[in-house]
Amino acid sequence: MSFQCKHCGQCCIDECTQINISIGDIVRICRFLKCNVGDILPKIGIKPFGDPETANQYDYELGLNIPCEFRQGEKCTIYPARPLNCRIFPYFFLGNFANDRLKEVIDPSHKCISEGIEFTDEEKEKYKKYSEFIGKLIMKEARLTDQFYEKYNLKQSKIMPAYVFPADDPNDMMYTKEITKSKIKMAMSIMNPAPYANLKNQLQNFIMLAENSVVSADEINLKEKELLS
Ligand code: SF4
Ligand code: SF4
Repeated sequence: MSFQCKHCGQCCIDECTQINISIGDIVRICRFLKCNVGDILPKIGIKPFGDPETANQYDYELGLNIPCEFRQGEKCTIYPARPLNCRIFPYFFLGNFANDRLKEVIDPSHKCISEGIEFTDEEKEKYKKYSEFIGKLIMKEARLTDQFYEKYNLKQSKIMPAYVFPADDPNDMMYTKEITKSKIKMAMSIMNPAPYANLKNQLQNFIMLAENSVVSADEINLKEKELLS
């Protein structure tokens, strides 16, 4: 059986989710909406992302406001140009984890697999290939986005004071989610906003130079159709 999105919207609105975006994502969204980066800046910004390699470290990078302000009703208003990190969910999990493990790795508030789904090996292989395609694009565009942070000296990380929060209880999803939300809020409050005072102009200038190296949404959508149909 194929994956069917239930349009619950949890992957777009759950405040525990942080959705990292690239310069390429911003270019594609602006092209799709026929607007300038300044027009979408109120819906994106610099956000804290937990560093997978250092406990309690947050790295500050470009991300979507969550709940995502591009979502209206049950719809993503920029769906054909949605960020790569939106595209890869939940296919990464569906393609890389056995069916009986999906309930462990996908938050149950996300209705992707709520009705219990047995994906065939063929389906799983398809989702794996698609997530690999998007994963490679994410890596490629991360390099370009890193060049942006480096050019304007925007790299910033902070270590969260470990004693502020009680230890996560991995057996209690709601408790863990509350802690995650508190950590994100705290990480936001300890960010130094000064380096980002000129973010709009920096993005505009960088995009003018880098725009031609960004893969188009049409090209991604074509490949998406080919890999997922
Ligand atoms: S950009 Fe679209 S798919 Fe991504 S979080 Fe926002 S509404 Fe959801
Ligand atoms: S959480 Fe899953 S079911 Fe819900 S909108 Fe996102 S992809 Fe669709």
